[in-house]
Amino acid sequence: MIRRTKIVATLGPASCANPKILENMISAGVDVVRINFSHGTREQHLQHAEMTRSIAQSLGQTVGVLADLQGPKIRIGRFEQGRIKLNVGDKFILDSDCMLGNQERVGLDYKELPNDVEADATLMLDDGRIVLKVSTVSNNQIFCIVEQGGVLSNNKGINRKGGGLSAPALTGKDIEDIKVAAEMNADYLAVSFVKSGDDVRKAREMLYAAGGRSLIMAKIERSEAILALDDIIEASDAIMVARGDLAIEVGDAAVPALQKKMIRAARMNNKLVVTATQMMESMITNPIPTRAEVSDVANAVLDGTDAVMLSAESAAGDFPVEAVAAMARVCLEAEKEYLVNVDRRQPINHPATIEEAIARATMFTATGLKIRAIAALTQSGETALLMSRRSSKVPIVALSPHESTRRKVTLFRGVYPVEFGKDLNDPEIILQLAEDELLSRGIVRNGDIMIMTIGEPVGKTGGTNTMKIIRVGECRTAEGSGNVQNN
Ligand code: PGA
Ligand code: MN
Repeated sequence: MIRRTKIVATLGPASCANPKILENMISAGVDVVRINFSHGTREQHLQHAEMTRSIAQSLGQTVGVLADLQGPKIRIGRFEQGRIKLNVGDKFILDSDCMLGNQERVGLDYKELPNDVEADATLMLDDGRIVLKVSTVSNNQIFCIVEQGGVLSNNKGINRKGGGLSAPALTGKDIEDIKVAAEMNADYLAVSFVKSGDDVRKAREMLYAAGGRSLIMAKIERSEAILALDDIIEASDAIMVARGDLAIEVGDAAVPALQKKMIRAARMNNKLVVTATQMMESMITNPIPTRAEVSDVANAVLDGTDAVMLSAESAAGDFPVEAVAAMARVCLEAEKEYLVNVDRRQPINHPATIEEAIARATMFTATGLKIRAIAALTQSGETALLMSRRSSKVPIVALSPHESTRRKVTLFRGVYPVEFGKDLNDPEIILQLAEDELLSRGIVRNGDIMIMTIGEPVGKTGGTNTMKIIRVGECRTAEGSGNVQNN
C-alpha cells in the first residue's frame, strides 16, 4: 500500500545541520519541505532548498519546496536578562519606544500596536501561554494587567484575541522574501495572516513580477480570514489550516470544527489543503507521539486533508526522523478507513471544463471497476489535481516531462510524480511506454485494469480530453501472438 496523505516537514537546525538527517527524513516519508522565512537568511534559505533537492535526487525521489513568508507576526522585543517571570495580577507595559525590556516593560517590533488596541482588549503572548488584559493605552504604551503568568523570553509573538489588528498581510520583509522564493523556484509560496482574497492576489502579482511561478497557499490564521474564506480560497491554489495562530484569534475550541469546514471547502473548490501545527508536538522531546497526537493526525487524514505538517518537531526537535516516520505510519493506517468526514457522493455541480469532465469520469469509473492505477499524462498537473479532489483508494500517477509539475504534485493527496514523456509526441507510443513505465515500477501487473488520461494533440497544457481503460499487457500479448483482435 502506498501512503496517500502527504507529509510536510519544516526545516531548521534539527533537520539541516546534518545532511544525513535530512536524507533520513526524506527516506522516512517527507514529500514537501517548508522553509520558514521567520528565521534565517536568504543564503540559508537558498542553500536549504538546494540541499533538499540534491538529496531527493540522490534518493530518486521528488520533494517539493514550500517557502513560508513570516507575515506581520507581531513580537515583543528583547529583555536585559533574556527573560522575565510574570505573575497573575502584575502590571506590565508594552512600549513601542522601549529598547531593552525589564520586569516593568518591553518593546514591540510593530510600532502601530498601541493604535490597534483599547482598554479591555486581551493580548495573548507566546502562543497564548501568557495572557494580558489591557487597562489603558496612552501614546506608545499599552498598560496591562497579567491574567495568566509565566516566563516570558525574548521576541515572543503577540496575538489579539478576536483578531482586528491592522497590520497588512505583506510586510516589507515579505516583499523582499517573495523575491527569494522566486529565486529558489519554490513550488509553493505560503502567505501568512491573510485577511482577504486581495492579500493573496497581491502576493501572486509580486511573485509573478519577480519571475516566480509557485502555487500560492493562504494560511488561515486570522479571524477575519474565516469570514472571507470563500474569497481567499478562490484567490489561492491551496490553504493551510494554521492552527497555532488561528486558535488564539478564534479560541482553541473553535478550531477542530473549522478544520473540517476548511478541508471540505478547499476540496469542493478543487484546491489543496494542509493541516498544520502541534500535530506531533510532544515529539520535540519524546521519541513517540501521545495517543492524542496520533488521533489528531489520523483525524486530519479522515477529514480529507492533502497533507499533514510538522513544525518545531522537525525544525528544532530531538526526534525529526522519528516524527516523520510516526506521521507516515499513522496516515497509512487511517487511510485504510473510509474518509468518514468527506462527502463521497458525486458533486452536484456540473464539470466546468473538458479536463474536469475527464477527471470526474475517471474517478467515477475507478470506484466501480477494479482499477489498479490511474496514469495521468499531464503537462500542468491540473488533471491530477482534479482527480485527487475525489476521494478514492486508487493511486494517481502523474506522468509529466516537466520537473516543476512533478514537484507541485508532491502535495496532492494520492498523486505520485513520475518523470515521463520528454520529446514524445505520438499518442500510440506514449500510451504504450506509459504502461511499460507503470509495469516496470511494479505499480501495475499484467492483467490489471488501469486508466490513462491524455491530451491530444500531445504537449498542450490544459488539453486533457481522452480517457482510456486498458487491460495491462493485452495489446502487446495480442501483437506478439499475431492476433490483433481485442477481446
Ligand atoms: P506559523 O504558522 O508556524 O508560521 O506560525 C502556522 C500556524 O500559525 O499554525
Ligand atoms: Mn502562524
